[in-house]
Amino acid sequence: MKKPVDCDIAVVGAGPAGATAACLLAGSGFDVRLFDKQAFPRPKLCAGLLTWKSVDLLKRIFNTGPPELFARGVITHACRDYRIHVGQREIARGRLDFPFHFVDRTRYDHHWVEAARTAGARVYTQVAVTHIDPMHGGLTLDNGSNVRCRYIIGADGVWSKVRGALHAQKQRERRWRDHLAVTIETHHPLPENGPSFAGLHFGLIPWGYAWSFPGERHQTIGMAALPQKRNQSIKRTFDNFLVAHKMDMQPNMRRSYPLPYGNFLTTPAKQNALVVGDACGLADPLLGEGIYYAHRSAQIAAQAIIDAGFHFERVAAAYTRNLNRSVIRELRWIKFFRDMLFIGGTHRRFRGLSLFFRLIPKRLEAAVQGHRPFSKLLFP
Ligand SMILES: Cc1cc2nc3c(=O)[nH]c(=O)nc-3n(C[C@H](O)[C@H](O)[C@H](O)COP(=O)(O)OP(=O)(O)OC[C@H]3O[C@@H](n4cnc5c(N)ncnc54)[C@H](O)[C@@H]3O)c2cc1C
Repeated sequence: MKKPVDCDIAVVGAGPAGATAACLLAGSGFDVRLFDKQAFPRPKLCAGLLTWKSVDLLKRIFNTGPPELFARGVITHACRDYRIHVGQREIARGRLDFPFHFVDRTRYDHHWVEAARTAGARVYTQVAVTHIDPMHGGLTLDNGSNVRCRYIIGADGVWSKVRGALHAQKQRERRWRDHLAVTIETHHPLPENGPSFAGLHFGLIPWGYAWSFPGERHQTIGMAALPQKRNQSIKRTFDNFLVAHKMDMQPNMRRSYPLPYGNFLTTPAKQNALVVGDACGLADPLLGEGIYYAHRSAQIAAQAIIDAGFHFERVAAAYTRNLNRSVIRELRWIKFFRDMLFIGGTHRRFRGLSLFFRLIPKRLEAAVQGHRPFSKLLFP
């Protein structure tokens, strides 16, 4: 048997959440190991949209911004114009004060893994974690090695093994997974004079929506919906959507992946483990924005460890309290707004949404971009 690796913190998963936690903790002097089952650079199904709050957070965590990320090919596109549709009808269009930025996830995720490596984290790729013992801080890897650590950070995405180990009862885990949205996405070559605006489409599928985002050379078209709430095939609806927009259907180019859609955990730490990002269900339950929440939850978890050191109860309490205060509370409001929108949408063809865009378009924009909380949407 191989000698176990000893370290302070083992981070499972090197997406935006894991790379951020590893970068901040290694930069603060902890002995950090970052494990990912894939080789980097690796693809990740995502529309790659960054709102203002993500760009602002990257500045605060990594001290970098759009000019440098454009120069490195990490951000590939920016756009200010948007249009909102209900079915085939356009209900709103506008120009954003701050543009949406779009990233290439292969380069984006690789960029932050390299940042973690530069900060001093030891990065192990193509190594899957197969077993987790949160009580004793133990991991088993698929190469037969064992890892012993003080803390495990589960940043291993929607199918998180770390969350599975914390949930213990299969029923709770099944319920969590039942509330994942199904998504489907494809790229389509951008025709000459093709759309240069970000499009959001409601009313095509119950409890879901579709997007069409412009890119450098192609458009990203996708659809997400909660599976329990619809009796309509997402694949068929998506194909109809492509046909309606005069796009070729290339079934082999469509990809599907689950997306947390309102199943955020309010108790994200137990025994010696903490979960962050998608592993903790932290994506916006209306538009599915998860990159911001991946970085932000990892930042909160890392700060709790930096402040409380190896006193796990204090770390767990600080992470739970701060995550609930600055992330979960906002996600609850977005979920409330989403539920009102989708229930009203089914019966009233999204008249409420049209009204909001007519009366308070800048307030809606500020809530989506993160300048203003959703709880304050109705207050001037
Ligand atoms: C179709 C689609 C479109 C989206 N569009 C957007 C968007 O436009 N904007 C936005 O902000 N968000 C978007 N999201 C959400 C966003 O992609 C996620 O919220 C984000 O990637 C979460 O980051 P993460 O680091 O938590 O997890 P991930 O990025 O999923 O990373 C998890 C990592 O863990 C690794 N891993 C998993 N299991 C193991 C294991 N056992 N051992 C070792 N490693 C393991 C995986 O290989 C992976 O690298 C979209 C999602 C989907 C599905």
